[in-house]
Parts: sequence; structure tokens; C-alpha cells
Amino acid sequence: MDTRLIDVAALSLSLAQIVGRENVLTAAEALRPYASDQWWYAIAAAAAGRAISNPDVVVKPTTPEQVVEVVKYANQAGVPITPWGGGSGVQGAANADRGGIILDLRGLNRVRETDRQSLVCVVEAGKVCREFEAELNAQGLSFTHYPASTEWATIGGSIGARGSGVLSTKYGKIEDHVLSLEFVTPTGELVHTPAVPRHAAGPELTQLLIGSEGAYGIVTAATVKLRALPKKRVFGVFAFKDLKDGIEAGRQIMVTGLRPAVMRLYDQHAAAHSLARAVETPLPDPTKVLMFDGEYPDLVDLEAAKAFEICRANGGQELPARLGELWWERRYVFYYPPYAPELPSIWGTIDVVADFKHIENVYHATTQAIRAAVPEKWNLSLNTHLSHWYEWGSMIYARMKIPTGPDNLDEAKALHDAIFKAGTEAAMAAGAVLNDHHGVGLRLAPYMQQQYGAGMDTLRRIKRALDPNGILCPGKLGL
Ligand SMILES: Cc1cc2nc3c(=O)[nH]c(=O)nc-3n(C[C@H](O)[C@H](O)[C@H](O)COP(=O)(O)OP(=O)(O)OC[C@H]3O[C@@H](n4cnc5c(N)ncnc54)[C@H](O)[C@@H]3O)c2cc1C
Repeated sequence: MDTRLIDVAALSLSLAQIVGRENVLTAAEALRPYASDQWWYAIAAAAAGRAISNPDVVVKPTTPEQVVEVVKYANQAGVPITPWGGGSGVQGAANADRGGIILDLRGLNRVRETDRQSLVCVVEAGKVCREFEAELNAQGLSFTHYPASTEWATIGGSIGARGSGVLSTKYGKIEDHVLSLEFVTPTGELVHTPAVPRHAAGPELTQLLIGSEGAYGIVTAATVKLRALPKKRVFGVFAFKDLKDGIEAGRQIMVTGLRPAVMRLYDQHAAAHSLARAVETPLPDPTKVLMFDGEYPDLVDLEAAKAFEICRANGGQELPARLGELWWERRYVFYYPPYAPELPSIWGTIDVVADFKHIENVYHATTQAIRAAVPEKWNLSLNTHLSHWYEWGSMIYARMKIPTGPDNLDEAKALHDAIFKAGTEAAMAAGAVLNDHHGVGLRLAPYMQQQYGAGMDTLRRIKRALDPNGILCPGKLGL
């Protein structure tokens, strides 16, 4: 789709008839916040005056019906649409790299209904996670989806990217929180998926949308699971001589049915440089932070005691529980200014997921490949942790930073891409799936064919059937 053919004045006039003039942005200054999401390259390119996100217009609908009308109009006019939640994605998914319309969904931000009997709630897609959680907390409730990007990330963006939060080991990833969806198809029909996700009424349509990064449809609302705020939290912190022992302790905790709300195992680099800073205590060894929570204090104590026994039996040395509480209190601080990385650094995360049989090899293969891809002069720092655990495996979150990258954007991009290629390919060769919770976007699109093999053709055929005019997020997800 060639956006040079778009008549922006006519486009914005037509869109204004749908959403109102005040909700259509075309001025350069108004479009600037949409020049990049939080992918390092998108930020660096925008700073260099070569933004990869170039919307012709930003549209801010406030109702699902307006979304329907915008999508129908875009189909007639042949203009691409990219949904935008909080723009906090780190893979480049929300960038309008082919111009057209950015659909900023934050005007759909109502909580439509809360059912205290089933503990479920219908929330619109543009609701920001932190606001949603604060409103629920005031009623003694919680959404239990706590991404570090909670200040920006929306419910719809979390669904789009198949996101996760720090409590995922007990409460699940976003796909476990969602019962059903209201979404607009790429040709402009408003669809409601079946009310509950555990059924045998055919395939699970809700799950097809989750993780589709806007390419299969635009989520306008979700029915999500709520929980009561926990009555008790118990923390434990253990140092291990070897990461392998920490992984084995985690495996035993998960396969025996214990469910820590938090279980984060930091390798020796992440313990020494990242966790130690948060808890203001030197931590030279791989270190695990655990938190158990729940409604019944005696059960919380018992579950924590069993897990702590497992850690000790695997050589874990118990550190003061207060360190865990400190981590909890400061868990978001280091993701935001003044601590968040800034240009001219290069930064990013390779977060991949694997079963227990492969996870240790995935850790070694990925971290070794990343180190090998960076010439010594760039002073790579690489801090890795395993922070989301499943009953069958875990993920690794390898956070790399080059304090001062090359001045030249193309050279910096080449270095960045070489690191991601080395780390991603090594992880997949060692048995990992290419991402755990950040999604695919532009960054990982080149690896989707390798990830899916013949299955990629199935994903492409679904896309063609749903979106015959190629309106929604063309070129994204490697489709
Ligand atoms: C400091 C920092 C910390 C982070 N921590 C975490 C973390 O702990 N856990 C985690 O999972 N992620 C984390 N992320 C990544 C990011 O916040 C998540 O990917 C988040 O889910 C994106 O939400 P968003 O609303 O900002 O979506 P956006 O970035 O705006 O969009 C993400 C994708 O979803 C699509 N999309 C947005 N809204 C909709 C909709 N309504 N319907 C269909 N598609 C839609 C977009 O087109 C895009 O493809 C972090 C990012 C940063 C910068």
C-alpha cells in the first residue's frame, strides 16, 4: 500500500465525520508522540530524524462503533491502520511504518461492568493498566497483570503483544486473564467471542486474537478475571552457588504444584548489577526472589515454607526476607527515568521461553551467543533473569546494554541486529520459542518463518481471509 497516494486533507475530513474533528490529529507536533514506540531502534531512528513510524493521521475513537466506521472507511480508501495502545511495546509493533492511520485506542477506557459474584469485569481496550489496577484496588480487587510498563501499557496492547507481569507465575499471562473479547475485524464487523474460554464450541476464537498484534483485529473490550487483593504476602530470598541449582529448585517448586506469585532467578551478573542496586545489598551469586500471596494466611505460610525447603535442599542460602520486600517496593523504579537507558546507548531484551529439559541450555547458548556477537570495545553489559515460570518450564530475559553505541545510526542498527540475530537464533537452536511476552513486531518478524515452518503459511492464509485488503498492520508479524 503506497501512502504517497493518500490525500491527507480528504482523509482527515472523512475521519472527522466519524470521530469528531478534535479526535483527528495531523499537525506535525501532534504526530510526534507517535514517531516511535519503545523499541530502541524506533527511538534512535526518530531521534536521528529518520522515524520509522510516519502516520499521516492519528485517530482517537471513543466508542467501538467509531472503530467499526474507521475500519470500514479505511477499507474503502485503501489506507493502512495501526492500532496504538500505550506505545510501550519494545518490538516495534505499534509503529506506522507504512504511514496511514494510527488508531490511538486510549479513548476507549471505560470499565463497563464488574461482576463481583464471578469476579470478572468488562474493561475497554484503551484502559491503562496502572489506572485499572488503582481503581480495582480501591474496591479490594486486583487484575493481577503487573507489567513493569504499567504506567503506559493498555489492556488492548497487553492482549496484542501477549504480555505478562511480575505475578504471572501464579496468576498467568494475559491470555490466562481474558475470558472473552469484543473486537473489530479488519473488514469492520464487531464480534463478541464466546463468554468463557473453557468450552468445546469449536476452536477458541479469543485466543486467535491474543498476540496477533493488531493484524487479525482491533480489540475494543475484554472480559477479564479479577481477584481479591491478597490478605498476606510472604517473601523469601535465596543465593545459589550455581544458576543450575536455582533452576532445579524452581523446577521442583513448579512441578510439585506450589505457586509462587513471584519467582525471579537472577544470574550472577543480574544479581550483582541489577537486583543488588534495587535492594542496596551486594549480591555476588545467582539469587532468587520468591513471593507467595493469597487469601488464607496459614496456607500462604505453608506454601512458602515448602518452597523454601526446596530451595535449601538445592543448596540455596537464605538471605533476609526484607530484601524481597525491598525488591517488591522498588520493582518498577529502574524501568523509568532517571534509571531507564537513553541514547546513545543501545539496549534491548531477548526474552525466550522453553521447557525445563531445555531451559538451562537455552540460557547458556543465548548468553554466550550475545557475548560473542559484541566486540569487546563496546563494553556490553548483559544481565539475565528467569522471571516467569510455568509448570513445564520457564523463560529467560537477557537484558543487554551497550553504554555508548556507534554514532552512525546504520552502524548502531547493524550492531543491534547482529546481537539479536545471534541471541535469537542460538535460543531457537537450543530449543526455545522465540519470545515469551514482548511479542514479535518488526524486531522479530524475520524469525517467524523459522519459528513456525509450514505453520507460517497457515497464519498467512488466516490473515488473507480476514483482511483481504491488507488494511490492518500490513507487513507486521512477518505475515
Ligand atoms: C520499561 C518497560 C517495561 C516493560 N515491561 C513489560 C512487562 O513487564 N511485561 C510485558 O509483557 N511487557 C513489558 N513491556 C513491553 C510493553 O509494555 C508491552 O508489550 C505492552 O503489552 C504493550 O502495551 P501497549 O498498550 O503500550 O501497546 P502498544 O505498544 O501500543 O502496542 C503493542 C501491539 O499491540 C497492538 N495493539 C495495541 N492496542 C491494540 C488493540 N486494542 N487491539 C489490537 N491490537 C492492539 C499494537 O498495534 C502493537 O502491535 C515493557 C516495556 C517497557 C518500555
